[in-house]
Amino acid sequence: MRIAFFSEHAFQTPFLIEANREYGHELVFFKEQLSRRTAQLAAGFVAVCPFVTDKLDAETLRILADGGTKLIALRSAGFNNLDLAAAERLGLCVMRVPAYAPTAIAEHAVALMLALNRRINHAYNRVREGNFSLDHLVGFNMEGRTVGIVGTGKIGESLARIMHGFGCHILGYDIYQNPACIALGMKYVDLPTLLSESDIVSLHCPLTPETKHLINEETLKLMKPGSMLINTARGGLVNAEAVIEALKRKDGLAYVGMDVYEREEGLFFSDHSSSIIQDDVFELLTTMRNVIVTGHQAFLTREALAEIAHTTLGNVADYELGTPNPKNVLSAGVEGPGGPLHQSPRE
Ligand code: NAD
Repeated sequence: MRIAFFSEHAFQTPFLIEANREYGHELVFFKEQLSRRTAQLAAGFVAVCPFVTDKLDAETLRILADGGTKLIALRSAGFNNLDLAAAERLGLCVMRVPAYAPTAIAEHAVALMLALNRRINHAYNRVREGNFSLDHLVGFNMEGRTVGIVGTGKIGESLARIMHGFGCHILGYDIYQNPACIALGMKYVDLPTLLSESDIVSLHCPLTPETKHLINEETLKLMKPGSMLINTARGGLVNAEAVIEALKRKDGLAYVGMDVYEREEGLFFSDHSSSIIQDDVFELLTTMRNVIVTGHQAFLTREALAEIAHTTLGNVADYELGTPNPKNVLSAGVEGPGGPLHQSPRE
């Protein structure tokens, strides 16, 4: 099938081309972000493949449907950038990549923890300048520390496994308990207990109305002196302004590692090095010595990218062949060319 890929990124294209040796689709790449303005580029493409930053509101979906698109094959797990009800009304089939390499994200959380703890960013800069002073580089042993994991699904469980290997005590908070985490020695507690007893708090729950600003002025006050907050889940879980105030108070939160930021849209995934970033809160965070920010790259391993590519192209093949009960359908839409697509996960 001919597939229009929007928001092409050099880090991803080789994995799609490699995976396509198995599927033989015709891949057409557009650098443009998918939006109302650019949707006409997809005219005549039955399958469209958006990136997580593309905007699929009702009007964009209508332009796609008018142009002959039948399948939206998201190359992401999240779909908060797509109006699913509008897709259903327009008879569009929507498929996604529900899970890929949770280890990649858990390992990035650990990379942030260790870099913050052992001041790797400062040490790197000092050594390059011939400064071998060890002052202000003192860290702490991970062994014996308490790590609190908020959201103990696939990624939280993977992190629990790694932290278990480090010899940490593990606390968990979730609306469901995960037996695999309990088997690793995790103790489930309520959120205030987790925040007040953990040396490191790592967030791995989805962003929902219930979890928005889970970390805020009040909850930050519960955190232990010298504690660390890691967010590789979604920026909206954390009130960044409150984090800055907590860091400045110096009586609790002491380090922050973040791969996601509430207002990352329009900022992350592109080069702004020759312009002035207008977000003062973000700019202040990036200048703080005990904060490390990465630009939503926790998923960026060869294994995860290969898995995303395989699942995305496999989803298109399922649609094309009319595979009964395909795994990754969000909205069944119209019939696939090879037969009806029956199942939505909500059925
Ligand atoms: P998952 O669905 O396997 O686990 C999420 C867990 O959060 C579940 O156990 C769920 O019960 C729990 N949860 C839901 N609502 C909650 C609440 N109100 N309070 C506490 N816990 C709650 O998902 P996953 O694959 O582990 O992914 C977790 C998150 O990681 C995703 O939602 C996504 O936002 C983020 N993510 C980030 C990247 C990245 O590159 N930075 C990549 C993939 C996923």
